[in-house]
Amino acid sequence: MIFHPGDEDVETKTLRQLQAEEDEEEKFQADLKKAVRQSLDTYQGGRNMTSCLRTPLEVNSHKISDSTKESPTSTEVGIFGTGLQNEVGEYNCFLNVIIQSLWNLGVFRAEFLRSSMLDHHHVGDPCVVCSLYEVLTALSAASREIRKEPVTPSTLRIALSNLYPDSSFFQEAQMNDASEVLAVIFDCLHRSFAQSSSVSDTDSSESNYTGSWDCANRTCIAHTLFGMNIFEQLNCNSCELESRHMKYTSFFHNINASALRNMKVTCPETAFDELLNLVEMNHQLACDPETGGCGKPNHIRHFLNTPPHVFTAVLGWQNTCESVEDIAATLAALNTEIDISIMYRGLDPKSIYSLASVVCYYGQHYHCFAYSHEHDRWIMYDDKTVKVIGSWSDVLSMCKKGHLQPQLLLYEKQR
Ligand SMILES: [Zn+2]
Ligand SMILES: [Zn+2]
Ligand SMILES: [Zn+2]
Repeated sequence: MIFHPGDEDVETKTLRQLQAEEDEEEKFQADLKKAVRQSLDTYQGGRNMTSCLRTPLEVNSHKISDSTKESPTSTEVGIFGTGLQNEVGEYNCFLNVIIQSLWNLGVFRAEFLRSSMLDHHHVGDPCVVCSLYEVLTALSAASREIRKEPVTPSTLRIALSNLYPDSSFFQEAQMNDASEVLAVIFDCLHRSFAQSSSVSDTDSSESNYTGSWDCANRTCIAHTLFGMNIFEQLNCNSCELESRHMKYTSFFHNINASALRNMKVTCPETAFDELLNLVEMNHQLACDPETGGCGKPNHIRHFLNTPPHVFTAVLGWQNTCESVEDIAATLAALNTEIDISIMYRGLDPKSIYSLASVVCYYGQHYHCFAYSHEHDRWIMYDDKTVKVIGSWSDVLSMCKKGHLQPQLLLYEKQR
């Protein structure tokens, strides 16, 4: 056997890498176990989630030693982002992922931090908008420091729960759905900026449409950045009648996870935007006989009057603990770039958006993956823990490994 000078070096490096990967895996499993145990411990007496968490726990448990390692906040990690606090029993993770996602949207962060300095109508006591401003300002301040202390979202949490004093929605020590939280924050933003102007914007030229758009105020950042003013109609292929005119505003593009992955199985080479369009084409309605239509089934067409700055997709899952196979098949359908003119008519061709952040959950625990343009890498936010993940394919393998189901996808418009 002939040894070349460099060989030994290569060998050691590979071993070291392997060890590093193993450590990484072990730490991941330990972190996951800790997060799950926290959810479980604090969940006794809450919603019954234990049955859901059991399967993945058993799968992972044989790898985990009993000594739970505290994850040290290394300074390397500190360069990339700031964590948010989530003490045992607070269940802030659903709110934390939304805060991190919003902060990571450059266009929102700039607009919000600028406009909230101006006069606004306070919403709630304490005001949700002021509290959000406080948290985002603290994150911005921390992002300029080298050693980043986790920021507390408590005021915002209290502001949100005070909005619904009579329901369990948002009460402290209660778990909530991250996309519902985002919808409530949008609503609060709308109310704080838009109250001065009249909401009824129904102009007579569109009188054959049922419904109306929600907001005409150009200073409302919820609607100008995230809102989609949609016209919906059915154009019959058989009798050419136009019927079923609807007009409404939506913040979210809803996707059925199982319909999406089934479509991906049928069309494995097809991109995410095309798949969404195909899924939509499957929803068929009869050409309206009440307005003289022929009754034949047709798909509904959606028109957008202006493209949003941020395109927000919500994935709906059958349950909170899908199989790894189903999670993997759904992840395989996603792309980090989409052209929304494929799903919505009335836009310029090539209305391209890039994925900025993804909110995932595992049982009742939420994670956020956010793309850092500055570092050209994906970062994971898990409450206090901030971790560099790497490329999009690293995010995907992390999701598969951790049984993480993507729920919210935030895409920013490319300039
Ligand atoms: Zn306020
Ligand atoms: Zn509005
Ligand atoms: Zn017809």
